[in-house]
Parts: sequence; structure tokens; C-alpha cells
Amino acid sequence: MMNKQFGTCEIVHIPEKEPHDLHNQPTEFVFASAIDPQNANHIVRRLNQIAPLENLRHVKRIQKKVLERGQVQLSVILCAASEGDNQLDSVPPALQELISSFQLSPFITKVCKYAATSKEEWQEQCKIWPTSYHPRTYNIDGITGFSDENSECIFKFMQSAMELATSDGVVVNAAVIVDPSAKQIISRARDQVFAWSPNKENSSIDSSCNRKSEFSSSDVISNNFATHESFQVNESNKQLKQPYTGVACLYPWQWAKQQLHSQSSYYCHPLRHAAMVAVESSAARDRYLFPSEENNGEKPLELDHENPSSTSSPAKRQKTVCTAVENDDDQLKARSQSSNQLLERPYLCTGYDIYLVWEPCTMCAMALVHQRIRRIFYAFPNRNAGALGSVHRLQGEKSLNHHYAVFRVLLPEEALHKCHTEVPQT
Ligand SMILES: [Zn+2]
Repeated sequence: MMNKQFGTCEIVHIPEKEPHDLHNQPTEFVFASAIDPQNANHIVRRLNQIAPLENLRHVKRIQKKVLERGQVQLSVILCAASEGDNQLDSVPPALQELISSFQLSPFITKVCKYAATSKEEWQEQCKIWPTSYHPRTYNIDGITGFSDENSECIFKFMQSAMELATSDGVVVNAAVIVDPSAKQIISRARDQVFAWSPNKENSSIDSSCNRKSEFSSSDVISNNFATHESFQVNESNKQLKQPYTGVACLYPWQWAKQQLHSQSSYYCHPLRHAAMVAVESSAARDRYLFPSEENNGEKPLELDHENPSSTSSPAKRQKTVCTAVENDDDQLKARSQSSNQLLERPYLCTGYDIYLVWEPCTMCAMALVHQRIRRIFYAFPNRNAGALGSVHRLQGEKSLNHHYAVFRVLLPEEALHKCHTEVPQT
């Protein structure tokens, strides 16, 4: 994929789980035993009661082998075992009882530790011990690849974020929230940890519905970012040539050190990372477009662009909801609501994408879960505190009630420094 500004680029999906070497998948030890097929049902039922395989739910309890002359041999997993544990001493008494009553001969064997994420992984796993495989039941645009047209769009929005990140001397993180169905920027923001002033709104809200895919940094209000001294940089971030200590998600605790080291000549707000500020602006835009009854009578929020028409944007937003991913309870709910009340306020950032120059920290990544962001694109990994692949992998956290798709737009570090010299002035 060629891109005018950045040369050769690529967009890669960051999966929910760290991919394993296909032929070298992590394994765990278990005790197993051959059993008489006639007793299989009874034994498995009893085992599920006394020794459930809590952390190995993807592993099948029984392995079936067809021997020569069509003879079937069944083996069953009795319980988990620790490495080098050849004794059955640690086995619970109820299981000991089962072993002796059926005269089983336990042996130690291996099973794959994690559920397969692809058919290829699953096929390899079954060579060790059978597992079950549940293919992904949802698809978010891009997981299976992007069209040239979509890639072009993604690069342009990422470029917009890069320009914003470098627009004020010190490089910070920047966030651009986009409605992909209208190819429209909803809000954008720079880090404001060291720049935030309670009396001054520094983020910009793109409220114009006619404004499609315009990319200029001229309308971005520069903030009062104070140049601050560099601190010792974590070794793990050395693959980028510069430390970028101004990037809030890279150094979530930098603000604490900063206060100790300098006079308070600037405002400091530890939570105002770019993604948080962009989300706040997006919410302000929603309050403006969908004023609720409580807000009636209040002075509407002042936007820094011309006022949108009162009908076009809600309609567009509903379209976003309607074309969104299947199999998502929230979106189904939103859809059924939308058919009844066309001007219902949509749920936060449902259906929207966010472009971040750096992989977000856990706080920002969680905020984007709450906002129901659909896709996250970032350019540079965050080895210090990244929550979407580098340190944590929130997109694979099963306990969360929303999952977005995460992509990395592969760009050279030089792209950060190029975007202001090569972008034509508008
Ligand atoms: Zn952050």
C-alpha cells in the first residue's frame, strides 16, 4: 500500500489474543487415563462434579482414538497436574476414589493451554489432545482486510491525528474521533495534562455536517503546552529514537513527577489525555445536537464552527447505528429504539472510530469501551503502558460488555516529523 505522505504503509489488525507460534502453542500438564467406553458417561459426569476443568474449558474431556482393526480407545482427563508432578498425592480424595473404583491407570500428558483463535491453531491443538474451536461470530469492517479506498481514508484520518500531535512544538498524543459512515470528523484533541485551564476550552469540535474529510490543522486552537524537562526514559521504549515524554498515555504518571520538579507555572490535569478530551468534546457535540429536557433553557454549547442543520446529523447518526455490527445487544437495542423515535440520542460513540497517534493507556482504552467506540487505529505502540497489545490486551477481555476492533497503522517514526514539512498548506 503506497501513501503519498508516508511512503509504504500497512494496516494490521491487533487480535484479541497474542498469536502463538502455530507449532509451539503453550501447553499444560494433566492427569489422564484410558477408560472402558461402557463407563465413559458415568465417569465424565462424575468428573465434571468433582474435578471440573475451570481454566481449560476449551479442552475436550475425552480423547477418542481408533486403533487398528477398528477398535476404539477412549482416554479421559482426570484433573490438572503441575510440571514434574508424577505423584497422585495432590489429587482430591473423591477423585482418588473414582480412580480406584474403576481401576484406572493415570498417566501425565499435555493439553493446549489457550483456546484456538484460528482453524489452523485448532488443527494443531487436536494433534496433542482434542479441543473445541468457536470461530468468531462477528465481523467488524477491516478485520478481514481493507479496500484501497478505505485504506486511503484511514491514512488521511491518521495523518490528521499526526498533524495535531505535532502542531505545537512539543509532540503529544492526539485523538481524532470519526463517523466512518459519513467520513466526518466528530471531535479531535491533543493531550492536555499540562495545558488544561478550567477557564479555557482547548479542544475543538467539528460540528459542521457539511464538512467531510477536510484535513487541515489551521483551525486547531493551539494549547498552552509548557515545554518540560525530559526524565529518564524506560528502556523498553527505546525502539523510537525520541522519548516523547510529552505523550500522556506513554507516561501516565509523568504529571506527578512534574509537580515535584517545577514551579506550578502551568495548569496540570492528570486525566486529560487526548482520547479523554476527544470523548468529552464528542459528548458536548451530542448534547448540542440532541438537547435533553433537562438542558432546555440552558445556553447551548458554543461550537467553533457554523451550526449544523437540525435534521441532517441525527439522521446520519441513525444510519451509523443501523449499519453497525450484528450480534451486539446494545446496537440491537439502539436499532429498535431508533425505529420508534428517530431523534433519540444515540448511545455515545456507537459506530464511531478513533485515531490515536500512540496506543492508549488503560484509562483511555477503558473510556473507549464505555463510549462503545467501534474501531481504534493507532500508529505507535506504547511499550510502557499500552492497553491494546503492548502491555495489556483489553480488546480480548471477556468480562467487558463491549469489544472494539483494534488496528495499527504501520508508520515510520519519521512520519511524525515529516507531516508538517510536507503537507501542503490549506
Ligand atoms: Zn491515556
